[in-house]
Amino acid sequence: MARYREAKCRLCRREGEKLFLKGDRCYTDKCAFDRRPYAPGAAPKVRKKMSDFAIQLREKQKVRRMYGVLEGQFRMYFKRADAQKGVTGTNLLVLLERRLDNVIYRLGFSHSRDQARQLVRHGLFMLNGRRVNIPSMQVKQGDIIEVREANRKVPVIVEAQNVVARRGCPDWLESDGAAFKGSVKALPAREDIQFPINEQLIVELYSK
Ligand code: SF4
Repeated sequence: MARYREAKCRLCRREGEKLFLKGDRCYTDKCAFDRRPYAPGAAPKVRKKMSDFAIQLREKQKVRRMYGVLEGQFRMYFKRADAQKGVTGTNLLVLLERRLDNVIYRLGFSHSRDQARQLVRHGLFMLNGRRVNIPSMQVKQGDIIEVREANRKVPVIVEAQNVVARRGCPDWLESDGAAFKGSVKALPAREDIQFPINEQLIVELYSK
């Protein structure tokens, strides 16, 4: 499957915001964005004011990169969000939050969503007692996610649990680190997504 293979820190610098793509490193003084908080590449000779389209595009790219979703998949999420009842922008963010790889990251079983995706693909997790290997699966209220017993000593999972306190677990999830288990207490609401996102810009971009 196609995926982005370049340096992740360039994405944060491109978007002008920390996207927290590299786990613990993002919280240290090694963070590339903290050191060089400007876009990668040569500085433009003349700084132009961004058009509305450019602002909308940047917001979409930021969210897409944060969740590690490719363009086609992101558009599909938008279509699904648009077809649902309620506010399209909120529906979109909720669909992204409900991805299994995001939930595993949020529960503190991986340093990043990218790493969560890889761990899921390798079949290290169970969802409601069944082994799963599809990172894009949508979780539902009441779902139980656990690390398979045979994989509870995998170093990246153990290390991730040690540093999860920095991020904290969102209210819609419940994490039991000692039991390598977590559950979905409720579906996420807009206010559970704390990262600064203006989803209305994405709706405007795709509604053209
Ligand atoms: Fe972004 Fe993390 Fe790299 Fe900092 S360390 S630039 S937050 S990916």
